[in-house]
Amino acid sequence: MYKEFGIKEEVLNLSEKITKEISPIFQEVEKNCELNTLKVLKAFNKYNISDMHFGSTTGYGYGDVGRDTIEKVFAEVLGAEDSLVRGQFISGTHALTVALFAFLRPNDTMLSICGKPYDTLDEVIGIVENKSSLKSYGVKYEQIDLIEDDFDYDKILERASKNDIKLIEIQRSRGYALRKSITLDKMEKVIKLIRSVNKDVIIMVDNCYGEFVDKVEPLAIGANVIVGSLIKNLGGGIAPNGAYIAGKKELVELAAERLTAPGLGKEVGPTMGINKYILQGLFMAPSVVASSLKTAIYASKMLEELGYKAVPRFDEKRSDIVQTIEFGDKEKLIKYCQGIQMGSPIDSNSIPEPWDMPGYTDQVIMAAGAFTQGSSIELSCDAPIRPPYIAFMQGGLTYEYGKIGVMRAISQMGKWDGSNFPKLGKRDTL
Ligand SMILES: *Cc1c(COP(=O)(O)O)cnc(C)c1O
Repeated sequence: MYKEFGIKEEVLNLSEKITKEISPIFQEVEKNCELNTLKVLKAFNKYNISDMHFGSTTGYGYGDVGRDTIEKVFAEVLGAEDSLVRGQFISGTHALTVALFAFLRPNDTMLSICGKPYDTLDEVIGIVENKSSLKSYGVKYEQIDLIEDDFDYDKILERASKNDIKLIEIQRSRGYALRKSITLDKMEKVIKLIRSVNKDVIIMVDNCYGEFVDKVEPLAIGANVIVGSLIKNLGGGIAPNGAYIAGKKELVELAAERLTAPGLGKEVGPTMGINKYILQGLFMAPSVVASSLKTAIYASKMLEELGYKAVPRFDEKRSDIVQTIEFGDKEKLIKYCQGIQMGSPIDSNSIPEPWDMPGYTDQVIMAAGAFTQGSSIELSCDAPIRPPYIAFMQGGLTYEYGKIGVMRAISQMGKWDGSNFPKLGKRDTL
């Protein structure tokens, strides 16, 4: 069966060989999964979730008890005073945009302390010109780059102590930057430092890809507001769309008034049948995030065994579900992404090719055979076509599907005579 599915025997053998080595790491993931599962179940019990919360509203969406309760459940799970969980958010980028436009006013300054934020925020902030950017409204932007994957604490302390910054943004996941994700230890340290000199600045965390990877979310370590997508971790592969903003009550209210209209805020927003899927997605999310983490750990170990640089390493502390693999070779990178597509449940016959995409300078290849369009909690892999040819892989609704997908992708990379793996590691016996 494996062979018929295009998985080479050598890949299967290597897979079996590494299984023992990664199992202690898996146990950590499972422990964390259980804790987050308990957190979710407790929240469901606290708010007595029942069939009536699966109801649907249309039009204005007044009095949607399901929607209002979902927002209480999310707040409970995320450690927030309140939350805004809506299908009217198109994506994570949209929710981040709503949050930034809600909190910032003309002449305010936004400071990013993780270097340049996620690519899709370039035009939102005005790093790339756009007539509707924050910059066009007179909002100023500054950034402090990371130093060796950690914060530039001295510079941040100096800048934050001037008390003229309205909002500090921390991006937990790496995006398309070649840096590590920010662990909660580092985040806590920098937030404490900022708070030691500045009581008022809004600390906002782009939490995309980070939810349920650790025991707590950034609100527990001092962030004021967090933002994320429901077609990533918290949607559990079941939410059909949407995103969330959670944190301090007054900030969530500001965001609601920006998403809908001043005076309407959270009171409106038809749910059009998605309540049950959002709840079921949240219910599944701890387990789905654990499957994604296991898939990433597995891929990291497999590719490291084959001599490729995989970040994070299989046993490294993780703060998001993203795995990068440096192929050092254009063809290998493309073949791997194509293999991920072939190992997907949906559109497995489509062969992704590098393409020009709006907002990117290099061509990009994207493998995504997902039930939900653009869902990257499902196994997906994308890469800008430029040296050193790095793929960004994430997701996996179940570990077994993730593992099979990775085996299929590795099998696709070339003939297994050794010569196809130029940097073959010495631990490899193939
Ligand atoms: C995915 C992601 C976003 C938002 O992307 P969307 O595709 O708009 O949901 C923002 N920041 C980070 C770090 C991300 O990974």
